[in-house]
Amino acid sequence: MEKATAHYVFHCPKGSVAEKEINEIVELQEGCYSFISDFLCTDAKGKIHYHFFDTSKEVGSQYALVYDNNNDEPCNGFALPDTRSKDGFNHIFAVYNNEVKCVGFHEDAHIISYSLGRPVSQFIREGLAMFFDRYWWGIDNYSWTRWYVEERKMPSVTELLENEKFNEYSEAITYPVSGAFTGYLIERFGKDKYVEFYKCIADKGMNAFKQIFRTSMSSLEKDFIKYIKLFKLREEIRKMLMEDINE
Ligand SMILES: [Zn+2]
Repeated sequence: MEKATAHYVFHCPKGSVAEKEINEIVELQEGCYSFISDFLCTDAKGKIHYHFFDTSKEVGSQYALVYDNNNDEPCNGFALPDTRSKDGFNHIFAVYNNEVKCVGFHEDAHIISYSLGRPVSQFIREGLAMFFDRYWWGIDNYSWTRWYVEERKMPSVTELLENEKFNEYSEAITYPVSGAFTGYLIERFGKDKYVEFYKCIADKGMNAFKQIFRTSMSSLEKDFIKYIKLFKLREEIRKMLMEDINE
């Protein structure tokens, strides 16, 4: 089944959960789309094609197929921008079943942000998508980060900017921490400055921190941790975090 809306074309397998819930999906994605594009003052070039699959195994196979490699590990969702797709359209491949519904801000934020540029650093790219998501496994980015600081499990943000380091850590650390750091930059310097920074880092690399924020990465990092420590974790949330991580 195919359904076209203002900013999307949704492709659902026949008889799938996605097909049954298509009206809710349309409402959610169009809502995310307008928020992201208003915020970033830009839009995706052309409609986003959303392809739903029942399982993460199928999405993993799609990844291997479109990126033409052998990495077909199961995956819940990924974005394929128009610049890299064979037909010149933006695509998102996502799992949608009763348990896993890979919809919302994340992949759309990636696609829309490509209009600003595509920074090399995964920490920066995932940070923006995670800023819009706000939550990782139902717990907000700041709580995760506060907890890692408390548990002395917090990696250096400066190091995480390098993809090699970023990929050494679990996504349960890198994703929420990148979202929290992005949130901190936006709250401290304002949205317009952040957008300017995002374009600059995509274009010129790490010098963008100094050029746009007029401060060194190490003092930004220190200040970020100081800010995070101003918040107190609620006991129930600490328990949930411990359960999530030990599962
Ligand atoms: Zn992502």
